[in-house]
Amino acid sequence: MTVLRFDNVSKQYPGGHVALTDLSFAVNRGEMLFVTGHSGAGKSTLLKLIHLSERPTRGAVLLGERNLRNVSGRGVAMHRREVGVVYQDHRLLTDRSVAENVALPLQLRGLRRDEIRKRVRSVLDRVSLGARAEALPTQLSAGEQQRVGIARALVGEPQLLVADEPTGNLDPTLSAEIMALFAGLPERGTSVLVASHDLGLVKRMKKRVLVLDHGRLVDDISPEELADG
Ligand code: ADP
Ligand code: ADP
Repeated sequence: MTVLRFDNVSKQYPGGHVALTDLSFAVNRGEMLFVTGHSGAGKSTLLKLIHLSERPTRGAVLLGERNLRNVSGRGVAMHRREVGVVYQDHRLLTDRSVAENVALPLQLRGLRRDEIRKRVRSVLDRVSLGARAEALPTQLSAGEQQRVGIARALVGEPQLLVADEPTGNLDPTLSAEIMALFAGLPERGTSVLVASHDLGLVKRMKKRVLVLDHGRLVDDISPEELADG
């Protein structure tokens, strides 16, 4: 089953800069893949088209059966519940505890308190932060802070998780840990799309890799191709 599809998508920003050209690919349910390429290759733009902070100039982006062209107004908020987003700088609220940060998306949805508490506890365990629920983000290491960002993106049980340079501020050891955490998520049915300029790190994960160059998809490497590499 296809979770995400790009059909001949191009994106030209106002002012004329072409960020993506004729991009087509599909992601299956429970699939993990990376998007890589140099700075400016179009990785962020690709992710922005998925969580609707940008719109394509041509072509179609589909989440499941839904053409995102037809999603607007209140539909955008609904759409974002189905797509979890992890940012490089994690964007945590510094005056709220880890648990409160992770609970926020569920509070905005009006879930019951005991349901929120249960889900927050479960997702913090999943990212190995069960013991740090009451800490403030500033009391955590950089890698732990990023895991809170991942927990917050996962707590709503999205079909698809997208992450833009989630290891951009981390050293190689922590980066590998965070990537391994992402790689384990599809076991629960969540599809995961991670953008990273770090081709070496990405290849070591031995997952599917889309390679962008100046906005064009120049390679789609399967895990099998990387297995013996
Ligand atoms: P990456 O994430 O791979 O670094 P981006 O998607 O951020 O690439 O950018 C792709 C290209 O589009 C770059 O040349 C960038 O300067 C340009 N770009 C990105 N955002 C905008 C914008 N809002 N307006 C104009 N050009 C943009
Ligand atoms: P983000 O973390 O949201 O990708 P960036 O640091 O890449 O943010 O860019 C900050 C903002 O500037 C974004 O909204 C991006 O679209 C925009 N931007 C990036 N490159 C350009 C560009 N060449 N011209 C105009 N806007 C740009």
